[in-house]
Amino acid sequence: MTEDRVVTFDMIMEKILTSDKQYDISKIVSAYQFAAKAHEGQHRSSGQPYIIHPLAVAESLLELGMDTDTICAALLHDVVEDTPATDEQLRSLFGKSVASLVDGVTKLTQIPVFRQDQKKAENILKMLLAMDEDVRVMIIKLCDRLHNMRTLQFRPEHKQQQQAYETMNVYAPIAGRLGMKKIQEELETLSLYYLDPFGYSEIVRKFENTKEEREQFIVSIKNRIAERLKEIPFQQTPEIQGRVKSIYGMYKKIFKEHRSFEQVYDRYAVRVLVSTMPECYLVMGIVHELYRPLKDRIKDYIAMPKENGYQSLHTTVLGREGIPFEVQIRTWDMHKTAEYGIAAHWKYKEGIRTDKMEEGLAWVRKILEAQKTSDDPDEILSTLKIDLSPDNIMVMTPKGDAVTLPIKATPIDFAYKIHTEIGHKMMYARVEGRIVPLDYELQTGQICEIITSKDPNKGPNRAWMNIAKTSEAKSKIRAWFKKENRQSNIEAGKTMLEKELRRSRIRIPEEDYEAFFSYDMKRHSCSTLEDFYASIGYGGVSISKLAPKWKDLYLKNYVHTEENQSEEQPIVKPVEKNVTNQIILDEISDCAVKFAQCCNPLKGDEIVGFVTRGHGLSVHRTDCINYRTMLARNIPEERERWLEVQWTDNSSTAMRTNLDILSYDRVGLMFDISAVMKEAGISMTVPQSHNLRGGRVLLVINIQVMNMNQLTAVLERLRKISGVISAERASSAHDMENTKKN
Ligand code: MN
Repeated sequence: MTEDRVVTFDMIMEKILTSDKQYDISKIVSAYQFAAKAHEGQHRSSGQPYIIHPLAVAESLLELGMDTDTICAALLHDVVEDTPATDEQLRSLFGKSVASLVDGVTKLTQIPVFRQDQKKAENILKMLLAMDEDVRVMIIKLCDRLHNMRTLQFRPEHKQQQQAYETMNVYAPIAGRLGMKKIQEELETLSLYYLDPFGYSEIVRKFENTKEEREQFIVSIKNRIAERLKEIPFQQTPEIQGRVKSIYGMYKKIFKEHRSFEQVYDRYAVRVLVSTMPECYLVMGIVHELYRPLKDRIKDYIAMPKENGYQSLHTTVLGREGIPFEVQIRTWDMHKTAEYGIAAHWKYKEGIRTDKMEEGLAWVRKILEAQKTSDDPDEILSTLKIDLSPDNIMVMTPKGDAVTLPIKATPIDFAYKIHTEIGHKMMYARVEGRIVPLDYELQTGQICEIITSKDPNKGPNRAWMNIAKTSEAKSKIRAWFKKENRQSNIEAGKTMLEKELRRSRIRIPEEDYEAFFSYDMKRHSCSTLEDFYASIGYGGVSISKLAPKWKDLYLKNYVHTEENQSEEQPIVKPVEKNVTNQIILDEISDCAVKFAQCCNPLKGDEIVGFVTRGHGLSVHRTDCINYRTMLARNIPEERERWLEVQWTDNSSTAMRTNLDILSYDRVGLMFDISAVMKEAGISMTVPQSHNLRGGRVLLVINIQVMNMNQLTAVLERLRKISGVISAERASSAHDMENTKKN
């Protein structure tokens, strides 16, 4: 994962001069000179001069065939943020277009997407908005991120994790959605390297082990097809390429779909590039003549392009040794779109969007439009994920019209996609003549028929909101309920709310509701309780997201802890503020310590302990309302039961030990082991492995555990991993030693 290549301006010039496009060379030269001067003296984490970064970004954009202004903006993309140069300077020197591209990239960079809270969905929407204004901003940002990922090994570990997470979850999917396959695959594979190094290295190892066999295999197929194609007069000699599936593509199949390496049929593929569409079908015929096609493995993305514009014929056939492989057939034009996506349609001269680009960005607008009706960040995020995926299915209406939907789409999504009214009036759905449940997952090629009601008042069911997968269907359902009779929404909302209160055992008088829910009401811009009920009723406010907070609020304001009401005598008799009574609290100690639910203390909080009757010590935060009330009441007997407690330094109790794991070697073994460790919160080093006879392997892993219980538990779980013969503490010398950090 190292990139030693350094891009120089000469290399950029060389690319520009040999390009078949026309560039404003003097503008690019002066952009470079300006950037070089502005970044003078600055360095990358790698120690190299900073300017190599904007150069590398510009190089990627040249490869995509982007225009002069985009190249200039790439060279200048970090000057406003990292140097004294200003937006006005860029505007006067390079014009409005370059300056606003730089501004757009700077703003995108400042939107943090690595956060778990509600801001995340909001921020992704902000990115989509910026993209909708000028998609070149996102294309520059993707190339910027690509170079940062290529050089990520120089950054501190937490930065690596953050960037890799962000890239995998936001930037790579956006690249995919824009059809920029090449960049998407590289971003995913680089992210994987940091997010799951074990999984990554296992796939690499598998690929390396089979390298020779694979190359022979591909060459023999290429030759055989080429030989046969020679007999046919093509407009231009077809090009035949061998292709190996990306590391992340393999990873997904193996670790997420649980296939073996050998079961991934498209791990090897051969690609045939021709001049015209009819030639594509001709080649497919010839391939099927040479090799037997596998049933249900022919995909015609030429007649039915993917939503990101991808077109190609795919067919999986059986090789001579019975090894299946995939053949992809497409024109050179389609190939360009497949690799570069939306960038392939960038007509640099006009500097305007082409129809193809409009199509390629329609989804952005659809998402932005649909999200306007929801303010539940989790829902926005999950629908975003589905809407961002370029994988989709094609379902037919009985009349034969194709409807494109994201994978996992249901008949509800199908109905709403055809027409809003068909969605609202749907009673049930038939797939291939059979009635299916509404949460049925539709598959490509199926014919789906929606049976609607004649009743003019018929509307959707509230439960559909949780079944539908697309933001389109959800927002239409929500809109219906919003428009629907307000009274019924209020009633439904109130019933749902009270049911939830009963479920969570929250008992508050109805006259307190307004005060109790005041925060949530304000957040969802409801000025009255009725508004709040109505929003719950039509689904604009999701109860399940709010309820956990209610419980805390309730405990804080309405419940006097059981401890306070107890009458027995204290077990320990402490004297307040006395060092001798100080208890050092070990987070994992076996003594009966529990953390009070009213204030949920976390390590690092200032804490006090309350001696309960027979339930050990209950730990509260010093700012807990219960503790505060006790202080205010100032009753000596009560006060005596509160102890001063402190957190221990947990690093001083961690122990290191070696584990010997004997197992049959298999793909996914390391992944499973590291998953067990991760789940148990145990850190481990990269294992030493020794291959033994009979396909067995001995792994020696150094781990850090808190105590014997944790160790015993993790050993037990390791033994349950498939293939593992035994898992024991190593009997070697470097056993259980106390390690003290610092
Ligand atoms: Mn940058």
